Amino acid sequence: LVSRDNHPERSTVSVGGVPIGPGTVTLIAGPCAVETPQQTLEAAQMAKAAGATLLRGGAYKPRTSPYAFQGLGEAGLRILADVRAETGLPIVTEVVDAHDVELVASYADMLQVGTRNAQNFALLQAVGGIGKPVMLKRGMSATIEEWLMAAEYIAQRGNLDIVLCERGIRTFETATRNTLDVSAVPVAQRLSHLPVIVDPSHSGGRRDLVLPLTRAAIAAGADGVIIDVHPHPEQALCDGPQALVDGDLRELSRVMRQFPPLL
Ligand code: PEP
Repeated sequence: LVSRDNHPERSTVSVGGVPIGPGTVTLIAGPCAVETPQQTLEAAQMAKAAGATLLRGGAYKPRTSPYAFQGLGEAGLRILADVRAETGLPIVTEVVDAHDVELVASYADMLQVGTRNAQNFALLQAVGGIGKPVMLKRGMSATIEEWLMAAEYIAQRGNLDIVLCERGIRTFETATRNTLDVSAVPVAQRLSHLPVIVDPSHSGGRRDLVLPLTRAAIAAGADGVIIDVHPHPEQALCDGPQALVDGDLRELSRVMRQFPPLL
């Protein structure tokens, strides 16, 4: 279902009216985690002012440590809905448990499945059956074939509104949080008709790498990027070192506009 063999035209996925697909490079930005109404609104305003058309923000955070901030849950979803009403930006937010899919889908414009759940087949089937667009991150140790098969689980339930997101893979290199697999962008686009975006924030894990990795992603033909921003990264409850501040995001957006989108 997701293979390009039977569907040679590349697909566009519409998220609350915002297209992700060939001919555009979509900027998705927002906080890694929803922390407070004020922080989320400020991050969304930064995103919108820089030209982002979709807001990201996690209410359910899949953290490596059980002692780390796990997200606000439904209270976070309510904050996102309020911020959407204020800014007009449709929401992309993660769901980590099949039991929460209905609840998260009742607030979200797009459901995100994260790297740690990329082969949670019950979750993939649940998001496939709920009728909302899905962003599927690549598992940190998944081959491109495994990633596309994970997408197939969603598609099999009748949902082809899937966006693939390359977010870095685990390699022997420790200088970066993950290794951005730039070649995954054209490879996945040739194998699948689904749009492919890149998460430079979680790939590098470092603020100073977000712009160069964005350049690399777009030069390779990515259909968009998803970027962490925070009004006060030093106070962030999650992933502060990779969050951009206002001026950085505007610069990134300016650089993005210099690349003509590939078809
Ligand atoms: C995220 O985008 O909030 C996230 C946790 O990303 P990943 O699943 O790629 O680690």
